[in-house]
Order: sequence, then structure tokens, then C-alpha cells
Amino acid sequence: MISVIKAIVMMRKLYVDYAATTPLDPKVFKAMKPYFTEMYGNASSIHSYGIEAKQAIAKSRKIVAELLTAEPEELIFTGSATEANNTALKGHAFKQGKEKASIAISSIEHDCVLNTAIWLEQQGYRVTTIPVDKYGLLKLEELKKALRKSVSLVSIIHANNEIGTIQPLKEIGNLCHEHNALFHTDAAQSFGKIPINVKKMNIDLMTINAHKIYGPKGVGALYVRKGVEIDPLLHGGGHEFGLRSSTENVPGIVGFAKAVELRKKEMGPEATRLRKLKNHLVKEILNIEDTYLNGHPKKNLPNIANFRFSYIEGESLLLLLDKEGIAASTGSACSSATGKPSHVLSALGIKPEELHGSLRLSLGKKNTQADIDYILNIIPKIVKRLRSISPIKKIKTWTSQHNQKI
Ligand SMILES: *Cc1c(COP(=O)(O)O)cnc(C)c1O
Repeated sequence: MISVIKAIVMMRKLYVDYAATTPLDPKVFKAMKPYFTEMYGNASSIHSYGIEAKQAIAKSRKIVAELLTAEPEELIFTGSATEANNTALKGHAFKQGKEKASIAISSIEHDCVLNTAIWLEQQGYRVTTIPVDKYGLLKLEELKKALRKSVSLVSIIHANNEIGTIQPLKEIGNLCHEHNALFHTDAAQSFGKIPINVKKMNIDLMTINAHKIYGPKGVGALYVRKGVEIDPLLHGGGHEFGLRSSTENVPGIVGFAKAVELRKKEMGPEATRLRKLKNHLVKEILNIEDTYLNGHPKKNLPNIANFRFSYIEGESLLLLLDKEGIAASTGSACSSATGKPSHVLSALGIKPEELHGSLRLSLGKKNTQADIDYILNIIPKIVKRLRSISPIKKIKTWTSQHNQKI
């Protein structure tokens, strides 16, 4: 019994899955706490408790909007990035109706945009998918083609949550506006990690959330540029400028703002620090034979690295890593339950037999050089071990058309 406890205590625990979610910053928790226990008013109430809550929301809205270079009235708080994405796409579709609405998305959207688009298509709305190249960059020529045929809303993920590739938003937004289409971007993964300016980037609608930036889960926001009209998904008391009825999640919103406030200071230095750690990690991992990088080698987030190891199963790799205390991911945390290969990796043109051998390491605040050294000590051993027992290793039928050694 004691030895078991000792083993648990002694085992190194290393979290490298920050793209799935992040730990709440203690400062954020501290800022939120009084809004659970003392300042619990309903922001719609007339009394002092209500006013307190209302003021806290107003202040938070200002702080979050500032990091996007938006006006506070252009931001509505939601229950998640999933909800914000649903609101952007469905809100636009419902407002325009089936005659006018026509939506284009990329082939590497997060499930909550992809499945919303699929659902809208099933309801009779027009939906187009724009392909990406082998690095995950949107094919702008294909977007132009679609825009010429008339599209009312384009939704493109800013930085992809699985591979980290960053899209040229400014250019995409410009193309959209030249063709009178609205431009929505899902920035849940990039917000607070790299600078975003909604005005300069020609963005009309943008999705963000708190739990990817050391804020609480269950709170997100949708930026809706002044003049852009969408229908609400939730009808009720008319909260959030009539676009999202529900008693506001005051502690969550306050926590979101606190997380944003911290990001304003930490974002730049943290990006530099993580980029350095990641570059070292990537360089070393790619020394393992038959190992490749998924995503763009340069135009990517400072903290996400996605690798592909031929002849092994990502799931087995994850389990063995977990045994060594390393918490990573095969890609998107959201679809790993279904066991289906990632639609993002498929969209890059990776061969089906190689789709299962991927590993996403996403770094964050608590990771150090010592963590990277630990990972670099463990991964080659595990890969070697898995390959030595791999039944597919012997049948070398792959061509390496997509195999970039960068
Ligand atoms: C995490 C994530 C989401 C979903 O966010 P929730 O707030 O958990 O709903 C959506 N899009 C991207 C790109 C994400 O990384």
C-alpha cells in the first residue's frame, strides 16, 4: 500500500496538453471567488447587488474587448467557444434565410464549426468547404472561386487546434469584403497567444473563450462588429444586447477578464519562451527516423507541435506516455472519444494508414526546459518499443509524398 502511494507521489506528472485546456491561474481564481460568495447579485436586479454585478460585467467586457481592439458593445459573452461558433454560423443563417445565406468553411475547422455547418446543410442551407494545402494553409484561389459564386459568410479557423497552423486572416478578410461576404474566425486557440486586431484583420465575427488562456471553463465570447446582424439562438430576457439571453455567469466573466488582463502582460514573453522550447523539441523529435511534422513549419502557434510517427498507433503512444506521467493528445481532445481519424490530418492529404500515428504536444506556462528534456528522453524509447512490436512496420508500402522532413 505504502509503496503504491509512494509510486504515485514520486511519479513525474507532466502536462503538455494546453491546447485542450489550461489550469486556472490562481490569480483568476482569486478574482472570481467573491462573485460566488459575496457579490452574487443578478446583473438585471435594480438593488445594490445587481448594480455590483452589472458593473463587474461592464468592466470585464471592456478588458476583453480591448485585447481584440474592439468596442465593448461589440462583444457578447457566451457559455463557450462552441456556443459562440454556433451563434455566428446559425445566427447568420437564420437572419439571412435559406435564399440569401451561403456559408463557406475550411476543411480544418474545429468540430463545433464543422458540425454546425453540416447541420445547417442538412436543414437546406448552402455550405461550401474550402480545401487547405499540405501544411494546412487555406487555398486562397479556391476561396476566391467560391466567393465569385456568391458566399454570404466565410468562417475560417485562425490557428488550428490540432496542428497550430495560422491562417492569413487579414488577406482572407480582405477577399471576403471585396465580395461582400462577412468574415468569421474561430480564434479560440490563438486568442491571448498571438496578437489579434479585429479592425486591421477585417474580421466581422470572432469566437474566443477563457479556458484556453488560464481562465475558467464554460465562458466564451463572440465579437460582433457594429452593423453586423445575426439572430440570437437563445431567446428570453434579452441579455447581452438581445443576442444571448440567460442570467450572466458573473464569476466566469470576471475570471475571463482577469485571464485576459494577465495575458496582456504575459503573452509576448511567454510566446518567445515557448517558441524556443518548442523549436528544440521539434528539432530533436524529428531526428527519430520516419517521423514528420504535421502542419506548417513556420506559420504556426508558438506552443503546438504535432508529430507523425510511421508504423505506430497514436493511442498506444499516448497510453505509454501517460504511464510515464506525460499527458499529451493525439490531436483534438474533442474527437478522440469517437476513435475516428482526425478530419484535420485527412485534409492535409496524409495517407489513411498514417493518420493514426500522430501526437500533439501543446506547451504552456508551467513547462520548462527540464520537461522538454524529460520528454526527449522518453519518446524515442517508446517509439522504438512500439515499432519493434508493430505488425505494420514490416509491410513498408507507404510512399512518402507527404512526408516532409523539416
Ligand atoms: C477549444 C476550442 C473550441 C471549443 O471551445 P469550448 O469553449 O470548449 O467550447 C473551439 N474552437 C477551437 C479552435 C478550440 O481550440
